[in-house]
Amino acid sequence: MENLNQQKLHRSSCDCSSGSQTSCGCLTNKSADEACPKCGIKGLKVSQTTLKSQLKKELVDGLKTLEDFNFCTNPVCDTVYYRDEILFNQNDIKSKVTIKNSHPDTPLCYCKSLLKKDFYHMLETNEANIGSKIKAIISDGKSVCEKSNPKGVCCTEDVKEFLKSYNINWDDDINTKLGCC
Ligand SMILES: [Zn+2]
Repeated sequence: MENLNQQKLHRSSCDCSSGSQTSCGCLTNKSADEACPKCGIKGLKVSQTTLKSQLKKELVDGLKTLEDFNFCTNPVCDTVYYRDEILFNQNDIKSKVTIKNSHPDTPLCYCKSLLKKDFYHMLETNEANIGSKIKAIISDGKSVCEKSNPKGVCCTEDVKEFLKSYNINWDDDINTKLGCC
């Protein structure tokens, strides 16, 4: 990220990503009623808005309804959306899914166009406080998660998990308030 250092690091923002609060106006999605037919894990419900924004157009046109689809939250399962026996995988949608795709062009934050390769670049150049820099980027400005993120919600939780896999703490700068979109 080019203008990383110009990003504001001090933000007064919500606490929803810490788990101590359920909502700050950030979108959340409910657990699915059905399990993913491929992996057997119960995912999360997604809205018709999310599905319509993410699914390739010809597939949207082929569906009678966009209701009642779920997002598979299993990182090692290729299914992205499912309903009954209908499955859509990574090739059927426009975005690359953070938790399911290791391609460097996969977004971490869809709304702010922060990609995995931007993070890798920060690692390679030994940037300090990567966690809080990423948090600042995600927290800055407007978000349209329901449309931009294939999960249909704020990317915060997935980004925190991703950073944790590199032993990077989201809260590596104690002066930065907890943020979410
Ligand atoms: Zn699955």
